Amino acid sequence: MSDMTARCTSCGECVRPCAFLQQHGTPAAIAKRGSNPDNLLTAYGCSLCGLCDVVCPEQLSPSSQFLAMRQQATAQGLVDLKPYKPWLTYERLGGSVLFRRDQIPANCRTVFFPGCSLPGTRPAATKELFRRLQHHDRSIGLVLDCCGKISHDLGLEKQFNTIFNRLQQRLKTYGITRVLTACPGCSKILKKHGQDIEVHSVYELLAEQPTSVPEVTLGTVSVHDPCPARFDLAQHKAVRKLIKLTGYRIEELPSSGTVTRCCGQGGIVEGCVPGTVRKEATLIGGEAAERPLVSSCAGCCETLSSVTPTAHVADLLTGTGSFSDKPAASFRRWFNRLLLRFSRLP
Ligand code: SF4
Ligand code: SF4
Repeated sequence: MSDMTARCTSCGECVRPCAFLQQHGTPAAIAKRGSNPDNLLTAYGCSLCGLCDVVCPEQLSPSSQFLAMRQQATAQGLVDLKPYKPWLTYERLGGSVLFRRDQIPANCRTVFFPGCSLPGTRPAATKELFRRLQHHDRSIGLVLDCCGKISHDLGLEKQFNTIFNRLQQRLKTYGITRVLTACPGCSKILKKHGQDIEVHSVYELLAEQPTSVPEVTLGTVSVHDPCPARFDLAQHKAVRKLIKLTGYRIEELPSSGTVTRCCGQGGIVEGCVPGTVRKEATLIGGEAAERPLVSSCAGCCETLSSVTPTAHVADLLTGTGSFSDKPAASFRRWFNRLLLRFSRLP
């Protein structure tokens, strides 16, 4: 926090687009309040979306400060984890042997790692993406597991390290050097913590495969770039290319690309500030001005579908979903993941 107190000029650039900073003051003002418990706990109102990092003229990273405050708070036992129990249970169960799967073909160096949300909400699309990858290269494998992002974002460092190290060790044992992700959250975690692992979004590889643009235009959509992927320019480009290949025109949102907004689910803020998801989703829906949205994050799709018709890029690409689909119920997601875990795959 001392770096922030010394270098932040309190210019207010990051405060303007952020409800959290509007409530608590500039990153320097928060840092100056020190490490007292009340101040550390305010960090749970920050979605860790990183928009402040992009707009800061001093190239500071307030989002890193707020993650460090969360880590300090949990290390000191200050955090009541009860409100976060549903998320932590989801992570623990989803990473158990019941839901883990490794399908590693001969000479496999690359695996598809779809994460938890896509298999839970879109098992058919997940299978189809894997089928297309296998069609492209038979040596591409599949790993179903949890990346530990929930523990990471809650500041539970020890718990996160246990989950992530288990995954990393398995990849290492198989000799995997490249991971293709479908979830921007997994992508961010793997890029930040994966040692010697090359990480790309699956959409980059799929966008490279030759396909022609359909002659009939199906309509105009806007793209919501998920906040964990705000710096992943290759993913932004690939997702847009794939959307166009499925027959849609794109009209960009004012908040897109590196300055995209969080859909409200980031940092599990909803656990301590109920209503955040609705508020943030409404802001993005307002920018879309009734145009349908397309995103590459299943979590964002669920949130945004409450304010405007929203599809996942995998829905359009594989023809397995549409803008009018309702988010899958919780029990259905577990069932979908189990089905995928035990189903026959190419
Ligand atoms: S990470 Fe997002 S929510 Fe947190 S302070 Fe920065 S802009 Fe605000
Ligand atoms: S944009 Fe940077 S310098 Fe300005 S208030 Fe935010 S952190 Fe401080």
